[in-house]
Amino acid sequence: RLVLAIESSCDETSVAVVEDGNQILSNIVASQVLSHQRFGGVVPEVASRHHVEQIISCLEDALKEANVTVDELSAVAVTEGPGLVGALLIGISAAKAFAFANNLPLIPVNHMAGHIYAARFVEEMTFPLMALLVSGGHTELVYMKADGEFDIIGETRDDAAGEAYDKVGRVLGLRYPSGKEIDEMAHKGQDVYNFPRAMIKEDHFDFSFSGLKSSFINRVHNAEQKGETLSTIDLAASFQASVVEVLVNKTVRACQTYDVKQLIVAGGVAANKGLRETMTQTMKETLPEVNVTFPPLKLCGDNAAMIGSAAFAAINQQQVADMTLNAIPSLVLGE
Ligand code: ATP
Ligand code: MG
Ligand code: FE
Repeated sequence: RLVLAIESSCDETSVAVVEDGNQILSNIVASQVLSHQRFGGVVPEVASRHHVEQIISCLEDALKEANVTVDELSAVAVTEGPGLVGALLIGISAAKAFAFANNLPLIPVNHMAGHIYAARFVEEMTFPLMALLVSGGHTELVYMKADGEFDIIGETRDDAAGEAYDKVGRVLGLRYPSGKEIDEMAHKGQDVYNFPRAMIKEDHFDFSFSGLKSSFINRVHNAEQKGETLSTIDLAASFQASVVEVLVNKTVRACQTYDVKQLIVAGGVAANKGLRETMTQTMKETLPEVNVTFPPLKLCGDNAAMIGSAAFAAINQQQVADMTLNAIPSLVLGE
């Protein structure tokens, strides 16, 4: 079965055609990142305008590239939240119009479920599983007993991991979003600044990254005041070492506690090389029986293919919406 999927929750306008939830026929992603860079972050009003301008051509391109006609489609899937309300509404309006005009069922999808289901493009999911969701707005551990069932067992109490990368990057004078660049710098440097590992020993599964961000900023400002020069690559390496150690430590413990068969690491920060290496290595050493899956690098960031995949779980559970579907900016997994 073929699903047309639409994603517009933040700063990527994306439309995809997905077959059976695990095959990508097309996945058009129009990024607005250049328009937001000069502001150092996503400007909601600018994002909405870009989505309006891009959505129709993305839709046409997705159908063309997939080489499918409208009557071959089984459903239309769209991100209903979480995200920016104005941005979400553009995708939802387009999806409703397309579904109504072509008499197709409309399937609302949680953006974070989408990030998890991006793993299906690598291999099938085996339950029960644990998902570490690390992105620009979220850092959470999600236990999935079965397809479409989500239980958040821990989450960040302040900043998300990706947000911490972007804020620290700003202090280093890097362009938004800076996660990828810090990752590359980190590989050239050493962990010499001993930043804190927040809540690493505590026996819950919550995270905190704002203390790390503050120590980083304080270290840089102190050096500036004293006229001392710090090594940028060592700062990047030290910051990344702290983030990765905390994420890996808590995730391994969650996998042990919940006795899972698979671990999925997803979201924009799942593209991080340091996290991918250390997580893979540590899981292999401590829990070799657990299968570790990362989505392909290109599908870690926002895209519609992952929404199309998650819609499959939704289709199977008959979660069809009508024309009253609205955006839910703070939609929570499993609620
Ligand atoms: P959410 O999914 O929570 O709604 P979002 O959609 O804005 O938020 P994503 O697009 O999933 O977030 O991820 C973007 C984030 O990923 C940014 O903060 C970016 O800096 C970070 N990121 C991207 N690549 C890397 C990397 N290699 N290392 C660390 N962080 C990265
Ligand atoms: Mg984005
Ligand atoms: Fe996202």
